[in-house]
Amino acid sequence: MSNPRTDSGLPSVLKKLGAMTAIRDTYLVEQSLLRTLGPLLGVLETSFYRLDDNGGIARALYHSRKVEQKEGVKRIIDNIEEVAVGQEVTDTERNLFESVRLLGKSCSRKVGSDLHICYPIYGNSELVGYFLFQRDREVTPVEDAIVHGVLEVFTNYFDLLDTSQRDQLTGLLNRYSLEINLDRLWNLLSARLHESIEENTKRINTPDTYWLGVLDIDHFKNINDTYGHVIGDEILIMVTRLLQSSLRQSDLLYRYGGEEFIAIIAANDLDSAIQAFERARVKIEQFQFPQVGHITISGGFSNADPGVLPQEVINRADSSLYAAKDAGRNRIFHYGTLVKQGVLKETPSGSIDLF
Ligand code: GH3
Ligand code: MG
Ligand code: MG
Repeated sequence: MSNPRTDSGLPSVLKKLGAMTAIRDTYLVEQSLLRTLGPLLGVLETSFYRLDDNGGIARALYHSRKVEQKEGVKRIIDNIEEVAVGQEVTDTERNLFESVRLLGKSCSRKVGSDLHICYPIYGNSELVGYFLFQRDREVTPVEDAIVHGVLEVFTNYFDLLDTSQRDQLTGLLNRYSLEINLDRLWNLLSARLHESIEENTKRINTPDTYWLGVLDIDHFKNINDTYGHVIGDEILIMVTRLLQSSLRQSDLLYRYGGEEFIAIIAANDLDSAIQAFERARVKIEQFQFPQVGHITISGGFSNADPGVLPQEVINRADSSLYAAKDAGRNRIFHYGTLVKQGVLKETPSGSIDLF
């Protein structure tokens, strides 16, 4: 027997899948996933939770549709909202995620008259997220097959995108990834900053501030010349692991160039940011690298002020890095301090209007 709901949904699934694979940016693909599945399941709200490397929730994407009737004309209002790390997850959701993670399959929980239904999302065979929605009835076998089909296409496509955004040697996100996501990242940082400012008018606390650092291995060419490229590659991997272990899980680390990294970190104030970058520098300085012995890094960082164009923040961090190299290497300089000291001249912010 045919099911009119899903049958009538099929042509539009294919159309949307086509549109989904035409999208190159991962974030848009995630949005597209929700836009595809919501109408298919006949629900007005869906969400997607992406996990960080530790299995914690890194960020969430909420999709909602509202049907508005104006002068006899029906209009669908479509809204997507992205929330960064630190958003609240309810006990029901947490509980559901845990079951889905342990069982490796979709699960549901009854809350009042509603069912909360959650599907796992995999990437490169690992659990990378959850797809969640609420409905008054269980998923039918036909719907379940369609959801699985859509999630599979999504997963395959996402893996492809992920590969293009990762550096093969270190596994870090690459420069291309930073460049295509920079504006979005800035929007998230700015939203998070405003959120914490609002929270802090109630609680006495300093708001989160973000800092962008460019870190570069000192005299790396000598290492290649002396020990060969293979050892050079190994050093790059080890430096990556040392940087990852000295930064926090929520901090972002990119391989920006050959022996150059960009770190975006959260720290309440300049002193905490200095401490975080210094921790990384000292960790590398003290590490005994097999064969090569001791190596050092230099760096420059700047406040990742959402009011300043992201490319300008990178330029500021980069000019501070060059000042650190000039001053003898194995040190990390702060742009604002260099400007105060008259070492660097303040560059225009290329300002972004926030309000
Ligand atoms: P400085 O202290 O001024 O940064 O000196 P440096 O020698 O580190 O800087 P330079 O930019 O002169 O050299 C960077 C070297 O990094 C040159 C290049 O051969 C090496 N390199 C870049 N990418 C890779 C890579 O993937 N593997 C290896 N082994 N070497 C790389
Ligand atoms: Mg270098
Ligand atoms: Mg370099």
